[in-house]
Formats: sequence, C-alpha cells, structure tokens
Amino acid sequence: MGIYAITGAASGIGAATTKRLKSDGHTVIGIDIQEADIVADLSKPSGRAEAIEQVLEKSGGSLEGFVPCAGVMGLPNRAGSLLVSLNYFGAIDLLKGFREALSQGESAAAVGVSSNSTTISPGVPNSLIQACLEGDEEKACKMADDFGSMLAYPATKTALAYWIRRHAVTPEWIGSGINLNAIAPGMIETAMTAEGLADPLIGPHIKNLIVPTKRPGKPEEIADFLAFLLGPKGRFFVGSILFCDGGTDAEIRPDAWPSPMPTP
Ligand code: NAD
Repeated sequence: MGIYAITGAASGIGAATTKRLKSDGHTVIGIDIQEADIVADLSKPSGRAEAIEQVLEKSGGSLEGFVPCAGVMGLPNRAGSLLVSLNYFGAIDLLKGFREALSQGESAAAVGVSSNSTTISPGVPNSLIQACLEGDEEKACKMADDFGSMLAYPATKTALAYWIRRHAVTPEWIGSGINLNAIAPGMIETAMTAEGLADPLIGPHIKNLIVPTKRPGKPEEIADFLAFLLGPKGRFFVGSILFCDGGTDAEIRPDAWPSPMPTP
C-alpha cells in the first residue's frame, strides 16, 4: 500500500479519486483550498511551496503517486490569470516539487488532469500555451487576462498536456521509474460543471455540448480510470493523453486523431 498526494481533493474528481484510493487501502494526502489534510491556495507560489513542504514531511519523502487535480473553469467574469496560476502552475510546480519523492516510490506514477476542451475549443491561443511552457508565470498571467478565462482554460490544459508529454520520456521521469501521463475528461458531473451550467452565458453552451453517451461522466468513473493509471497495471503508459469524454471528441473531430507525421 502506498502514499498518494491529490490536489483538489475536497470535491469532484479529486474527492472521488481520494475515496477510491483509500478504499483500495492506500494513504492519501489531500491538498485543497478548503477541507483537506493540507489547506493551501495553489494559485499562489507561497501556497504551492507550503503544500510541497507539508506533503514531503507527511510522506517521509516517498510517494507512490500524485494527481494534480485542482482547477477552475473559464467563466465570463473570471480572470484568465487565475487559470494560468492554478490549472497550469499549480499542477506543474507540484509535479516538479514531488518528482524526487516519486522517484523514491516502488513503482510510482503521476497523472495530470487535462481536458477535452484542448481539442474541441476553437481558437485556443498558442501564444498563451507557449508562455506557460516557458515557465514565465507573470507573462502568461498578463496574456491570459487579455484573452479572458474562457480561452485561458483550454490553453492551460493544452500546456499541461504538452509539459507532460515533453517530460514523461526523460531520465527524470520514466528514466527514474515514474510513469507520467494525463487524462482528458469531457463533461463530468461535478461542482465545476454545475458552476458553468448556472452561468447565463455559457450554461446553454454546456447544455448543448455533444456527448454521444447522452449523459455526463461521473467523477467515480474518472477516479477508476485514474486508479488504473496509478496502479501496477498501468506501467506501459508514458506521456499519453487519454481522453474519457463519452465520445465528444470523436463525434466532433472523427479523423483528427491519430494525426499522421507529415512527410519530411
Ligand atoms: P470541482 O470544482 O469539483 O473540484 C475542484 C477542486 O479544486 C475543489 O475542491 C476546489 O476547492 C479546488 N480548488 C479550487 N481553487 C483552488 C486553489 N486556489 N487551491 C487549491 N485548490 C483549489 O471540479 P472537478 O470537475 O472535480 O475538476 C477537477 C479537475 O478536472 C480540474 O482540473 C478540471 O479542470 C478538470 N476537468 C473537469 C471536467 C468537468 O467536466 N468537471 C472536465 C475536464 C477536466
């Protein structure tokens, strides 16, 4: 049985994953801005540093797994910078901060939580994705405030997916025995989705989203998927971005993936 860290553990996917791992007999250190083992604001560098320090102390410097799940959606009145700081840097800084502890695990894995908004949102600003990947939080925040949080959301989730693909294959990650991947959920029945549905501007768009299953996903379904990727059966997944979206991406862009390599 191992020690796992999960951010966003108080609600939705993070809470369901915490419950699932605990029911499998693992120890879970939950991190959240509310109701968690470690209460920290991950949108702030000081909160991230505090969370890293406390997790390393509680785990004795060895982790079997990590899921950076905390995040917020784009809303018309929400600053884009919050999404850059929480959804992207709140995940990346903790992945970096826990890498050494994960390398001490017996067979460790980390799974980021991206989104199918990465592929089904038109006009995702590449400049913002690149600013995130450069690691310049101040610059990325300024750009995100200009673009607004509705475009910042898919941009931060795309940057997270790219960061994970770039790093998963390196000596520091798979070379150190850590499987690093991301999932890309579609519409999941959580507080985040409820918040979006309640918004007069974007609520109708969420309601009309094409979901071939004719139902949103349940947080428990995503938790089971995460438990598989974190567990011993998921060891051949490296740098994969795994969609679990009831068919939304396949319906909207059936031939866009796999994307063949262009002729040199
Ligand atoms: P949720 O709102 O139920 O949970 C999000 C959690 O993050 C909450 O517990 C909240 O307190 C925490 N949080 C918010 N701000 C924080 C901060 N500054 N510091 C620390 N914690 C903070 O949402 P969810 O749907 O479970 O979302 C979890 C992840 O899944 C998010 O990264 C989200 O982008 C992603 N996701 C969700 C959906 C969906 O449809 N729900 C789809 C794709 C991806």
